[in-house]
Amino acid sequence: MSFFNSFITFTISNLPKGFAKPFAKPYVAGVTMDDALSHVHRLNNNGFDATVDILGEHVSNVDEARNITAQYCQLYQRIAEESLECTISVKPTHIGLNISLSEAVFNMTAILEKAQEFGNFLRIDMENSAFTNQTFEIFEQCKPIYENMGVAIQSYLFRSQEDIERLADSNFNSRICKGIYRESSSVAFQDREDIKNNFLILAKSMAERNAFSGYATHDQDLIDKLLHWIETENISPDLFEFQVLFGVPMEGRLEALLEKGYKVRVYVPYGPDWFDYSVRRLKENPDIAGYVLWNMFKK
Ligand SMILES: Cc1cc2nc3c(=O)[nH]c(=O)nc-3n(C[C@H](O)[C@H](O)[C@H](O)COP(=O)(O)OP(=O)(O)OC[C@H]3O[C@@H](n4cnc5c(N)ncnc54)[C@H](O)[C@@H]3O)c2cc1C
Repeated sequence: MSFFNSFITFTISNLPKGFAKPFAKPYVAGVTMDDALSHVHRLNNNGFDATVDILGEHVSNVDEARNITAQYCQLYQRIAEESLECTISVKPTHIGLNISLSEAVFNMTAILEKAQEFGNFLRIDMENSAFTNQTFEIFEQCKPIYENMGVAIQSYLFRSQEDIERLADSNFNSRICKGIYRESSSVAFQDREDIKNNFLILAKSMAERNAFSGYATHDQDLIDKLLHWIETENISPDLFEFQVLFGVPMEGRLEALLEKGYKVRVYVPYGPDWFDYSVRRLKENPDIAGYVLWNMFKK
């Protein structure tokens, strides 16, 4: 399977954009802000909350980082004007972390001030482990400015439990996800069951500290395990929500979660950088090619 996924990844990245579009299209909410927000309207009408992300990362030019920052600021304004149930998710390297920590903090502060102006929330996505320390540094520098912000935590990293112990109190808000990048065995669990077990450990650890978690997963077995724990331990719905990526087929599971009264948030990525972004993702983790193909055949 691994060779097959690597082959698909190599093929897609060497095809003209037009051929690759069918692979990316179900998972990208369009190229423009209007495209993305029209999906958010539809999601909200169906009972889902959303978080919007502009596709892109590893920006190495200050003007570009500031331009992306301005677009995030505008997004907060549009979300408020259109009364959407929608937050924003930002990748630190998209707003300058590759340039310097201070550039990323400067831009994150500008975005956070807009979040404050409109009473919204800001989520910092977590990128590969080379950026983990600096991402927490940005979080810790920015949080005193406006506390309605949170950061993602990856259950494949050995360090994540310690990060929770260091940061989590009733004011801490995290998205727990497995982690999407290829990481070495010196820093991360490699076995899928270990990653899943650690996800549950982190979820419990967050709840014990009265800290809010977004459970970001499509793994049905993990969702079953989370629900079993939530229902047997009577975990307050104020302490969690479920989160999924736009376009991943969930076969009625999300509607069932809504019917139980749980909040479900959909991560809605958009932007002109969809091709480069999708190819980078595939190269980093060729297993995604297998998911995409499998989901296309299921449809
Ligand atoms: C809302 C949200 C935010 C995220 N934010 C981050 C982040 O900040 N940092 C980070 O490192 N990772 C992030 N991720 C990705 C996450 O870490 C996992 O890599 C990803 O969700 C796959 O793990 P899984 O728990 O869904 O389980 P898996 O067992 O890997 O997947 C379960 C099933 O979901 C489907 N599936 C999963 N991923 C995809 C995909 N990309 N395309 C199509 N189908 C798919 C497949 O059918 C698969 O069989 C986020 C995920 C979500 C849902």
